[in-house]
Amino acid sequence: MVSDDRLVAGAGSPSGSPGGSPGGSPGGSPGAEPPILVSACLAGLATTHTGAAKPNRKVMELVRQGRAILVCPEQLGGLPTPRLAAEIVEGASGASVLDGEGRVVDTAGGDVTSSYLRGAREALKAARLAGSKVAILKARSPSCGKDRIHDGTFSGTLRDGSGVTAELLRREGLEILSEEDLEGRDP
Ligand code: SF4
Repeated sequence: MVSDDRLVAGAGSPSGSPGGSPGGSPGGSPGAEPPILVSACLAGLATTHTGAAKPNRKVMELVRQGRAILVCPEQLGGLPTPRLAAEIVEGASGASVLDGEGRVVDTAGGDVTSSYLRGAREALKAARLAGSKVAILKARSPSCGKDRIHDGTFSGTLRDGSGVTAELLRREGLEILSEEDLEGRDP
């Protein structure tokens, strides 16, 4: 588990400004922590399927400090914003989607699996480019959800399983956190 220090180091420091160091920004000093990959909606960008943001104060602070890079896998996969809600079908998960067995469908019954896979691969590309070791991803999303996702019935019911991007990043060795994991951490 990432330490609290890794999430808050540099807060309030003049060097914590974007582009400053320490902080893991691309221009940061050698040996600095690499940037954390974060869901763009948590940083306040209006990227959700309804065209809304899901701002999280701690994630936004990481971005302000130049210590995070943003991705929206669904946009990177070529989907528009706003877009239809989508869920991983019943009985499947991000893992089975990656393995070619599960599918992701939208509320009109459209198969959007290929867009979700493409978005996951693009997010992984960004993570590798930046050297990210940790990702903070939006809970319950069919792309970004960690450990709990909607059950494929569009009824608001949750079940165990991760989103497609969260699962791919985990398979590639990143530590995955949700914004809910940040609760109770300082500041
Ligand atoms: Fe994009 Fe992930 Fe946020 Fe959905 S949860 S809007 S895919 S960043």
